[in-house]
Amino acid sequence: MGYDKSGETRAIVITILVLTSMLITFGLAIFADRLQPDHGDASSLERKSYDNVPPSVLSRGDSDIPEGKPLFNMSRPHIGDVPYGQAIFSCSKPGQIALTFDDGPFYWTNHVLDQLDGLNIKGTFFITGNSPVLSRRIDTNPEYAALIRRMRSRGHQIASHTWSHKHLKDIGREGRYNEMVYNEMALRNVMTTPPTYMRPPYGEWRDPDSMQDLKALGYHVIMYNIDTRDYNCNTETDIEDSISLFKDALREDGNGSYIVLAHDVREWTAKKLLPAMIHTMDLRGYHAVTVGECLGDSEFNWYRDPDDVED
Ligand SMILES: [Zn+2]
Repeated sequence: MGYDKSGETRAIVITILVLTSMLITFGLAIFADRLQPDHGDASSLERKSYDNVPPSVLSRGDSDIPEGKPLFNMSRPHIGDVPYGQAIFSCSKPGQIALTFDDGPFYWTNHVLDQLDGLNIKGTFFITGNSPVLSRRIDTNPEYAALIRRMRSRGHQIASHTWSHKHLKDIGREGRYNEMVYNEMALRNVMTTPPTYMRPPYGEWRDPDSMQDLKALGYHVIMYNIDTRDYNCNTETDIEDSISLFKDALREDGNGSYIVLAHDVREWTAKKLLPAMIHTMDLRGYHAVTVGECLGDSEFNWYRDPDDVED
């Protein structure tokens, strides 16, 4: 009764077509994934996820800038003994480790801070103010502003990971100045003083023009000599690779000196990698410090006075 044979056939054909196109799309996605070159110190998955952000989200970062006085003519003296505008890869003293966390803050940052603060361990956070991937701004979202103030009040070092995580070598001088100064304005609005330490997105430190601009802007450029590759770990099983990588990289006699790259925005970094790193460090007699401390730089030099203006 009312049984429409042709309607059923059409439904089956449509279902098959939809399933086939889904399979092809999925297959192409995996294939494209395989084709992604591994750029060594640049985090390939991080690159992929940022490059896949829809243009509508990315363009928001171009038009919306933090409120308040622009800081383009803020005074940027090169004080202290740590070099400016050249990549730094390790601490200066044997036995010291600087745990560093990029791309945050985000949901898992609280969990990271709970662990560090519970053990009175100081870390360094490279903050992206307007994250296209996380769809959040630190200066307009009170929750994230509060996280940054918590970091600062507990003695962690706050550093810049640019305003919106672009490839610095691709955006020209004006683009680079905007990426650095907008993040300074956002951090000024959140915690009063903008930082003097930064890490380029995607670990891209080899472009001479970018380094020259970062030097002119008065930045210490901080790389790392242990990359935990936690950006590749999406499961509890995956993160075992990062844990092994960390254990293998760390000298057992406690005499190494390391700046370690991890990401506080990632679930398994917060839940598994960080506790494992802390445990291994303890066993081997390492002392965790901020990047500034591990380079022997006075805390006074880690931030700038936004009211100090160049004549
Ligand atoms: Zn990053």
